[in-house]
Amino acid sequence: MDLVEDLQEEVVLPVIGNMKLKDPVTKVKNVSNAYAEKLKRLDIETVGDLLFHIPRRYNDFSQIIAINKLENGEDSCVRGTIKSVKNRKAFGKMVPRTTATIQDSSGLVRAVWFNQPWMKRNIQEDEEVILVGETRIDNDGLFLSNPSYEKVKDGPQIHSARVVPIYPETEGLTSRWLRYVIHPLLKTMLPKIPETLPSNVIEENNLFSLKKALGQIHFPNSIEMAQEAKRRLAFEELFLLQLFLIKQRRNRKEAVPVPINKDVLKEFGESLPFQLTDAQRRESWRIIKEMSTPKPMFRLLQGDVGSGKTVVATIALLNTAQAGYQSALMVPTEILAQQHFEELKKLLEPFDVSVELLTGTQKTTSYEKIKQGEPQVIVGTHALIQEKVSFKNIALTIIDEQHRFGVKQRAKLKEKGRVPHLLTMTATPIPRSLALTAYGHLDISLLDELPKNRGKITTELVTTEEERERAYSFLQEKRAFVVCPRISENTEGKSVEEVSKDLRKRLPSLNIEKLHGQMENKDKLIKGFREGEIDVLVTTSVIEVGVDIPQATMMIVQEADRFGLSQLHQIRGRVGRSSADSRCFLFTENKDAIERLEILVSSQDGFEIAEQDLKIRGPGVLTGYEQTGIPPLKVADLQDIQLIKEARYSAQKTKIGPKLKKRLKRFSPSPRIITYS
Ligand code: ADP
Ligand code: MG
Repeated sequence: MDLVEDLQEEVVLPVIGNMKLKDPVTKVKNVSNAYAEKLKRLDIETVGDLLFHIPRRYNDFSQIIAINKLENGEDSCVRGTIKSVKNRKAFGKMVPRTTATIQDSSGLVRAVWFNQPWMKRNIQEDEEVILVGETRIDNDGLFLSNPSYEKVKDGPQIHSARVVPIYPETEGLTSRWLRYVIHPLLKTMLPKIPETLPSNVIEENNLFSLKKALGQIHFPNSIEMAQEAKRRLAFEELFLLQLFLIKQRRNRKEAVPVPINKDVLKEFGESLPFQLTDAQRRESWRIIKEMSTPKPMFRLLQGDVGSGKTVVATIALLNTAQAGYQSALMVPTEILAQQHFEELKKLLEPFDVSVELLTGTQKTTSYEKIKQGEPQVIVGTHALIQEKVSFKNIALTIIDEQHRFGVKQRAKLKEKGRVPHLLTMTATPIPRSLALTAYGHLDISLLDELPKNRGKITTELVTTEEERERAYSFLQEKRAFVVCPRISENTEGKSVEEVSKDLRKRLPSLNIEKLHGQMENKDKLIKGFREGEIDVLVTTSVIEVGVDIPQATMMIVQEADRFGLSQLHQIRGRVGRSSADSRCFLFTENKDAIERLEILVSSQDGFEIAEQDLKIRGPGVLTGYEQTGIPPLKVADLQDIQLIKEARYSAQKTKIGPKLKKRLKRFSPSPRIITYS
């Protein structure tokens, strides 16, 4: 979203001759070609870009300090008359310096400029100036070090005696220079800046007008005014984003209503070897109920590893098949496709539902059959979204581990005519801010309960050879994954090759096999492991998502410090999937990582771990947003839930008129998660 672009389209601003917002920045007074080149490095190419170059922060120099109140080490602003100016040439090791004395009614202080001999020409005796700089101390007492200066006679101050904007800068381009060109530009442009938000939105949310916001964001009367200015500009971004999300929802085509077959669902529930959790019951019911209307479902099912999302998906698949419609289940890896295929066949074939597989390397059905509507459930990887795959009557699309798909892939899975209902599933916690923005077009379901009777997982950090040996000794009795950061030996980090060799030497009686994404017989290996022929599977993070082998009760992660906390939580989630107790060993030789890894030892809660991860890696970068295809927000802060909510509320009440419609069109040219054509 780009306010500048919007304004350019809508308004022509005949200022200084006839300057427009999209004119090259060289049209601005005092911006030479050389400066234009430098401005380019800050992505400033037009007059409008310069006008919307938002300060990074502010220095508050609005208080002028009496000279006798100056204190060492403070940034201060003083106002006085120049009493003397002298240049001193360099001698010995000393840098050349210009020294001036300034007097106000309270006293006298020196200003010293190092290596700027031209200063002597810039200021004259008896001139009244305002100086801003750091107060320091030397043998002769306090002085202002390299202060910036402004002459009182030159008119309104822009560098001192006020709240001063500090801009994003680049080499050879200072905030001082930016203030020097932006201030006069504002003066001529501001009166012509139109309002871009509906007036009731401005009123109801107590927003500055755009004109006021622009003036105050650059040269605020106070820090509070700057904040209000920023709030207005951020609001506009978020408001447009929300309007966009709402419009997307409204524009959705009709879906196929899928009637609910209670008897079959009941029978299915009874056929399961376990009792559904309350959360599973609640969310599956919500899903099939939502699917029973022509309003397309657009839902994200979020649940921690092991919360049992697959069964919920299976219930929706079964109900859809019972009604005579097809479904597709898309997953990010071949291993997972194979697993879901086997599992669904087992669960659904007793109900006469045909399940087939379609991946890049394996196909148990044909494109022709899919087109004729023969297989009712098709499980696959992104191979499912090739042009040549078309369905006869698809009513439901499920995407498992949706965060693993790229935006483009997700966007491609679309259907012509009536749209299928969509269920996406993920174990990644969605922060509130993203739920309201990047995921704002989805309804969110939460499986907030793990199945009962789960064995416990004991997690330990392993840092010494002694501890490693102890950990390895458990391999004699448990079926285990050993996850390595690398496949082969010639790259940095423990590798599948190296570790499997080492383990075979240590434990010759065990059947130890390698598994990684590039291998062709992956499903055979997984099967062997599932059935107990293989004792230890040395692998990479290919098993990170979705793999469900309840008999595996031990996990070793080599060089655990090379993985993110949330990723480790997912990897650990491959064990502890039955009533037997499991062990997870996190190997590391990196002392700096221990504190971080301890979080996994003490917590098994994906939300908590994600939160801690965010804290450690610092705020700001919220994962997920970049992936969604929504252009980056320039001013708004995704952590500002309050403002997001206000913008959302306003957007919900706003009728999209022609002006907003025009802006929204330009809003997101990039693909969105599952947009239907
Ligand atoms: P995830 O949410 O991580 O995808 P799965 O759907 O793979 O989890 O389920 C994890 C394991 O728990 C599977 O082996 C599944 O059969 C089992 N499971 C699912 N629901 C229940 C339940 N209500 N009670 C006991 N076990 C369950
Ligand atoms: Mg899963």
